[in-house]
Amino acid sequence: MQIARELRPVGCIAERLESGESEKYSSCVIPCFGLHPWFIAERSPNWFNILKELLHSTPSSTVGEIGLDKGSHGKEIDFKDQVQVFRQQLELAKELQRPVSIHCVSAFGDLLKIMQSIGHLPGGAILHSYLGSAEMVPPLAKLGAYFSISGHTMSMKLEKVKKMLKAVPSDRILLETDSPDALPNWDVDSLHWVPGDTSKTLN
Ligand SMILES: [Zn+2]
Repeated sequence: MQIARELRPVGCIAERLESGESEKYSSCVIPCFGLHPWFIAERSPNWFNILKELLHSTPSSTVGEIGLDKGSHGKEIDFKDQVQVFRQQLELAKELQRPVSIHCVSAFGDLLKIMQSIGHLPGGAILHSYLGSAEMVPPLAKLGAYFSISGHTMSMKLEKVKKMLKAVPSDRILLETDSPDALPNWDVDSLHWVPGDTSKTLN
């Protein structure tokens, strides 16, 4: 869930957390607080303090989605500003040792540089709906990243996605729906049966 304007949590779970009902959801939902790059222009001057308070008052919470976006939507948003807001939150995730969920569209070179400058993230990092190249996988994995695959991969070129999936270590691969944003392409011709040992297929 993202937090915007007064860093007011958007989403029913966060609103319930504010009204003290977090225990109702604690067994099935992990709260995630962060300022998504799409909403940074709407942030209040006090957004970072509010984020820190939310993370401190909910020890089981994680940081996200945060990130960088140079895609069709993100290119409208000042990139320098995106970098500053992302870096601040990534440093906070490191300091609090919380896992972080990262949104990255067409900005993997910038992402790698920032993550390398901050260093290993003790809580780990999920690169959600990963659409980067195979070449980006080893340096990002070295920094503690996990690669989460969604229906968005079906929009990638087949050769690129095959190469990327083979590059991801099998203990670093995650699956997600990212629904309803990433509904898979249900064209039956786009689904392929891969016979044999899946561990060999992955690596
Ligand atoms: Zn996202």
